Amino acid sequence: MNETFDPEWGASTLGVRAAEPRTENREHAASVSMTSSYVFGSAAEAAAVFQGQAPGYIYSRFTNPTVEAFERRLAAMEGGESCVATASGMAAILSLCLALLRQGDHILSSSGVFGSTINLFNNVLTRFGVTTSYVDTTADVATWEAALRPNTKLLFVETPSNPLVELADIASLARLSRAHGAWLCVDNCFLTPVLQQPLRLGADFVIHSATKYIDGQGRAVGGAIVGDAERVGKDVFGFMRTAGPCMSPFNAWVFLKGLETLAVRMRAHCDNARAVAEWLEEQPSVARVFYPGLASHPQHVLAQRQQSGYGGVVSFELEGGRDAAWKLIDATRMLSITANLGDTRTTITHPATTTHGRISQEARDAAGVTEGLVRLAVGLEDARDIIADLARGLG
Ligand SMILES: *Cc1c(COP(=O)(O)O)cnc(C)c1O
Repeated sequence: MNETFDPEWGASTLGVRAAEPRTENREHAASVSMTSSYVFGSAAEAAAVFQGQAPGYIYSRFTNPTVEAFERRLAAMEGGESCVATASGMAAILSLCLALLRQGDHILSSSGVFGSTINLFNNVLTRFGVTTSYVDTTADVATWEAALRPNTKLLFVETPSNPLVELADIASLARLSRAHGAWLCVDNCFLTPVLQQPLRLGADFVIHSATKYIDGQGRAVGGAIVGDAERVGKDVFGFMRTAGPCMSPFNAWVFLKGLETLAVRMRAHCDNARAVAEWLEEQPSVARVFYPGLASHPQHVLAQRQQSGYGGVVSFELEGGRDAAWKLIDATRMLSITANLGDTRTTITHPATTTHGRISQEARDAAGVTEGLVRLAVGLEDARDIIADLARGLG
């Protein structure tokens, strides 16, 4: 492992250079360490490594050089001490909760979170005595404070949120959670460390679905938790060692290479998304466009303050409800009709009947997911071709 990187480097440099894994063969590009276990020279050496008295890899459920390289590079980019890679973004959220929470604890979450996250909180964690209540993502700090309970241990926010790209003020919520003795976790999937670094704003943990922009090319499912050496490096790592929702070394290699191009890709996603959002705003059949980079976004000023770019997700509401939304989606010829996001290819989806289709109507209303809402994850094609494809179904 090449340890000679400077944590003060910019996100582009860290993405290319931090924690480059290198064996004694001195390969230039990272190689993949596809092995489930490691051999030892003697019984004594095995015992020492198992007991943590000597360094060394043991078993790829919890120690693997390629996975470790991905973890170290992502931690460096987020400005965190430790990172644990997981099998998926949902496994990251689950691992964080099961590692740190116990029966009787309460999670206070923003309402506009990923559909499966709501399902995990409401239908899985409740069975183990961990309850969750929700606050509007955009609510002011006083509203968040009023919703805190004596047993609130974790504040969980997704900012920008899916699919309405609403923002929560990370620095204010970090102060609030600290004063209450709780942790703040930010799902940083939409912006990546290139555009937003929640730990530097005071958050305790960052969650990633690496499936999205970190891979960036729609190939692999994975996730990660970044935070301090104690909670993440020891507690979450210990949970991973025992429970095992780990990342495959091959996927870690895909994500490691993804981090090398993340900064340039994110800037290109931002440029294309802005062009599409500005065009949509001029269309008469579009009632509203949601994109933090537009001056019309109610939290544009907050976006300018806590983000260094506005991301690739643009949502918009059509006048004609579900019929108009489905007609638009079905009229496209180039865009991919899929719920994935963070791909080179622009994706288009109807949240009310897909990503948010499994939650209750009440939860859907709380998340602001209406029947006329369409979500775009703007990709890396030429912006004019994306716009031309959308123009086909608008009328
Ligand atoms: C996709 C996604 C997740 C879940 O990640 P998976 O890798 O699909 O398990 C969590 N949060 C957000 C914001 C997402 O977009």
